[in-house]
Amino acid sequence: MHHVLVLGAGQLAQMMSLAGAPLNIKISAFDVVTNQIVHPLTQEILGTGLDTAIAQADVITAEFEHIPHDILYHCEKSGKLRPGAQAIKTGGDRRLEKKILDESGVESAKYYVIETKDDFEKAIQHVGIPMVLKTALGGYDGKGQWRLHTKADADAIWQEIQTSLESTQNQAVVAEAFIPFDREVSLVGARDQSGKTAIYSLSENIHTNGVLSLSTSLHDPELQNQAHTMFKAVADALNYTGVLALEFFDVSGNLLVNEIAPRVHNSGHWTQEGAETCQFENHLRAVCGLPLGCTKLLRPTSMINILGENTLPEAILDTDGCHVHWYGKEKRPGRKMGHINVCAENDEKRLKTLCSLAQILDKKSFPALHKLIEI
Ligand code: ATP
Ligand code: MG
Repeated sequence: MHHVLVLGAGQLAQMMSLAGAPLNIKISAFDVVTNQIVHPLTQEILGTGLDTAIAQADVITAEFEHIPHDILYHCEKSGKLRPGAQAIKTGGDRRLEKKILDESGVESAKYYVIETKDDFEKAIQHVGIPMVLKTALGGYDGKGQWRLHTKADADAIWQEIQTSLESTQNQAVVAEAFIPFDREVSLVGARDQSGKTAIYSLSENIHTNGVLSLSTSLHDPELQNQAHTMFKAVADALNYTGVLALEFFDVSGNLLVNEIAPRVHNSGHWTQEGAETCQFENHLRAVCGLPLGCTKLLRPTSMINILGENTLPEAILDTDGCHVHWYGKEKRPGRKMGHINVCAENDEKRLKTLCSLAQILDKKSFPALHKLIEI
């Protein structure tokens, strides 16, 4: 029996718990909002404080990168935190992300760090317009971002950035070149403490308004190789243990890293039914010091995010190859409420199922699915 304490009590901790059970890995979760230790599936408050939970755990890990730093360092002192505090912090701070990418020789969009109005002017010179501006700390699902399309909008955008800079201590904005990408892909993989890796097939990701809507396993050996090399460079530079995800822009077959996520990732949810061992199990194996599981792609699989909905037509459960995963969260507009994995023996059949789902699912909650049938 291994006991893992997960920092964060959302759907990722929940899915780790489900994947860990057959291996006798028990999960408890620390809710960073309420500071309570909770059961990851039922959200029942377990009543132990953080210190007792740290003492009882064999391993501590995180389900997201925006964990207060004092908590990260407190956990790290126990010697049980994997990946380490520095790797988690890096994924939560775009300045550190860019630094590690530069240091590992991995290409990403040209950038400039902004703290003052003068920096903003310099960023426009250095990076050019169009430009994407992202808060260094706290951004997710496209939040905390601005697009500067023309010089005429610069003053208005600066006003908003200034407010954001004043909102959080140690806040800054990273300006980066707008990349006219052909598509977005990501690579999810696990690295164990000895540096051995197990990598999944790339996924192709479709975002709508900055939020992932559809993610599909991709068979592209050349691109896979490129992504794998970049993954190794970043994971080694971070001395990483656990599952790590890299998001990329694909520009005419050349990959640029967009983001590093030091955790299991939404674009890896398809591995639950599409790969020999899912990302949640492999993360637990890596952090617990167990052998990594085979990451072989079993069949082409797409993951459809359920955004802002808490019911689905029953016909979905009656559709071959469809697997529904609810997170049990309270309904809010645009919120990630669950996902549907769609598997098929080949891409043609997978696409056919996606198109039939688009006929019965609402456009607002499933935007990428509807794009498929509009083409
Ligand atoms: P996540 O939920 O993945 O953590 P995030 O809020 O951290 O998202 P990013 O991944 O940086 O944000 O950006 C969200 C989306 O915005 C990207 O997936 C991409 O579609 C678009 N985007 C971000 N940066 C750029 C860029 N430099 N050029 C073009 N599009 C971009
Ligand atoms: Mg992203």
